[in-house]
Amino acid sequence: MSEAQANIGVVGLAAMGASLARNLAHKGNTVAVYNRHYSRTETLIDKHGDEGKFVPAKTLEEFVASLTKPRTAIIMVKAGEPTDDMINALADLMEPGDIIVDCGNAYYKDTMRREKAIRARGLHFVGCGVSGGEEGALKGPSMMPGGTKESWKTLGPILESISAKAEGEPCVTHIGSDGAGHFVKMVHNGIEYSDMQLIAESYDLMRRGLGMEPSEIGDLFEEWNKTELNSYLIEITAEVLHHVDKKTGKPFIDVVLDHAGMKGTGTWTVQTALSLGVPVTGIAEAVFARGLSSQTELRAEAAKQGLEGPSEVVPMPLEERQAFINDIREALYASKIVAYAQGFNEISEAAKEYGWDIDLAAVARIWRGGCIIRAQFLNRISEAFESGEANVSLLFAPYFKDAVETVQRSWRRVISRAISFGIPMPVFSSSLAYYDGLRSKRLPAALIQGQRDLFGAHTYQRVDEPGVFHTLWTEEGQEEIKQS
Ligand code: NDP
Repeated sequence: MSEAQANIGVVGLAAMGASLARNLAHKGNTVAVYNRHYSRTETLIDKHGDEGKFVPAKTLEEFVASLTKPRTAIIMVKAGEPTDDMINALADLMEPGDIIVDCGNAYYKDTMRREKAIRARGLHFVGCGVSGGEEGALKGPSMMPGGTKESWKTLGPILESISAKAEGEPCVTHIGSDGAGHFVKMVHNGIEYSDMQLIAESYDLMRRGLGMEPSEIGDLFEEWNKTELNSYLIEITAEVLHHVDKKTGKPFIDVVLDHAGMKGTGTWTVQTALSLGVPVTGIAEAVFARGLSSQTELRAEAAKQGLEGPSEVVPMPLEERQAFINDIREALYASKIVAYAQGFNEISEAAKEYGWDIDLAAVARIWRGGCIIRAQFLNRISEAFESGEANVSLLFAPYFKDAVETVQRSWRRVISRAISFGIPMPVFSSSLAYYDGLRSKRLPAALIQGQRDLFGAHTYQRVDEPGVFHTLWTEEGQEEIKQS
């Protein structure tokens, strides 16, 4: 048996786990490492053993024995059943006060269930969202841990040392109890879907609507990255659009099949929002857009059917074209603000539902570095939550309210032009519809209430009198009765 000497351990040494273990070792930790098949452990030690202090273990028993108390073990194995199996196996070998951390992509309700079961055994369970992929795990991810405050005391300083830094601050904070960390990571991914789709819609409009070449659009994204849109996703978009396929010499984008994949976190974000009653319309449309892209048979059939629509390229005088490109940039910014407003709204409603004390300003701060949605304007978002101005909605904070007001004419022009070009803009247009819905003093929901009362006696409330009413629609004179 190994002597207890490692202050932290990592179980699961595939891409993410190996990178996280190396990151931990680089920061001066002594890291116990274990993988189901020992070959991965050997590879890690052979290739990177000289980067820091590792304690390789052949068995889980050896792994646990090599950890100093309170033992802290990070699990980075395949999500789902393998994670459950590994948690239980570790819990069987650990003692009260020890900490099990799941850094995989778990569904927040699974994390709540696991936390409850592990807490009952006297151990701490931390569900920790990690964003930034393999490179982030190695060089500094954005981390979203849940769990008890007590576990954060041990874990916090370690996670702070390995996380990304934004303006010198670690991109990790204790999010809240049980599933709060994985919930926030889920919404992060939902916003990521929206952000990516918005960029893709901007590209589509310039490519098909204006007939621009990918590299030309890539140049524009590079320019846009120097504006309020500055972000990792805009930066990599420019890189993808400039990339030329080695085999054919064609723009890379033109040789890639247009079926967007997904792993499920976007869908979870939308399903959860539906059950919480929070309209995350931009995120939902982004998920559905990926769905439509992947309905290959249906799209092939539509192509055969030759569904009618406007022709795509509409020549535009140079000046008008420049102005339109500027409109697209501004519309992208406004829609992006809506995506974040909706995402933060989902987090705050979940916090009420599950009793999580989530500091939204801190969430915005830890997303400034290491994660996929890192963006300069998260500084402004965190300020808006810190000052309390965004407590009800990000769209009410003066900075963002002014920003949307300033660009809304461009936003409307872009969407109406896209419609006339026949180019779909699901997230651009649903974001504007959300904004217009929010600012409407009166919505046609009154008519829906009337319909519901007529066909199903579902009752309604009046604008001029408290209580619940039902109209006897079949009675002569359509008598109205008050039910309470
Ligand atoms: P994978 O999700 O591909 O999982 C492979 C690892 O899981 C291997 O170490 C494998 O061990 C282990 N494993 C699989 N089944 C079992 C089992 N039944 N019992 C024990 N171990 C098992 O690895 P990744 O590194 O890509 O991801 C790890 C976790 O991190 C996942 O939950 C993933 O969702 C999450 N994540 C991934 C990100 C990414 O960008 N890839 C980003 C953020 C989170 P063996 O070698 O023995 O087969």
